[in-house]
Amino acid sequence: MGRLRGKVAIITGAGRGMGQSHARVFVEQGCKVVLTDLNAETGNAIAAELGENAIFVEQDVTRLESWASVVSAAQDRFGGVDILVNNAGILGPLATTQDLSEAEYLTVCAVNQHSVFFGMKAVLPAMLTRGRGSIVNISSIAGMAANYGFPSLAYVASKFAVRGMTKATAMEYGKHNIRVNSVHPGFIQTPMMVEATDEVGGEALAQIPLGRIADPREVSNLVLFLASDESSYITGAEHLVDAGMLAH
Ligand code: NAP
Repeated sequence: MGRLRGKVAIITGAGRGMGQSHARVFVEQGCKVVLTDLNAETGNAIAAELGENAIFVEQDVTRLESWASVVSAAQDRFGGVDILVNNAGILGPLATTQDLSEAEYLTVCAVNQHSVFFGMKAVLPAMLTRGRGSIVNISSIAGMAANYGFPSLAYVASKFAVRGMTKATAMEYGKHNIRVNSVHPGFIQTPMMVEATDEVGGEALAQIPLGRIADPREVSNLVLFLASDESSYITGAEHLVDAGMLAH
């Protein structure tokens, strides 16, 4: 307990799935958390359940202007920002490249990629004021290799981009004690996974050396480590949490 005591975090896409799990684990570890999501009903319910150290702000991460109110909420309610977890994301259509429309491609990139730029741009002034910061950008195994199981050029493009953007910003802000890392989950049991496929069956499971889908908390444990001072010498790095899938 208390691994994030005294720190303030913003977590996007925190209404469900992994974002919700990260918010729970952060609050358990003494962090004050601003949860954001498109869905105000579930977001408000989770924040209320987490108690006085959590607030919810409705946000569409693709809108740059939405970020100012999220950062203001963190500053007004909790006094600053130390941690950003850019978690919100969509899988988008599972379509081959020729069948993917321009609009579908742009939407996936807006949610998964452009929002990561907007989020980092928005929190960096507050982190510079604080003299410290940890940004954790959620990519995917699809940000490391294209053969992760589903056809989606847009998803792969956006997740590769997140990995590169992480390194670029880490290079710029290391001297200011602001660390930036990317996390690359494999198959995690969340609503996104359920919506993508009814069941991850025998063939897919055979690709996973540990032979099972992860509980979201197994990703939260890594995000917690990267957000905390325990990872003080780690920046600009990519971190797999994939049960060995990319070890093939
Ligand atoms: P999820 O269950 O679908 O949750 C994603 C959350 O992001 C939802 O609460 C969703 O809100 C929110 N969101 C979507 N678009 C948004 C927007 N424009 N603005 C604000 N919030 C938005 O997904 P998940 O599986 O937890 O995934 C979390 C992250 O991990 C994503 O970046 C995903 O790409 C990545 N990832 C997932 C897996 C996996 O196996 N599940 C593997 C690798 C990487 P609504 O519910 O209101 O739409």
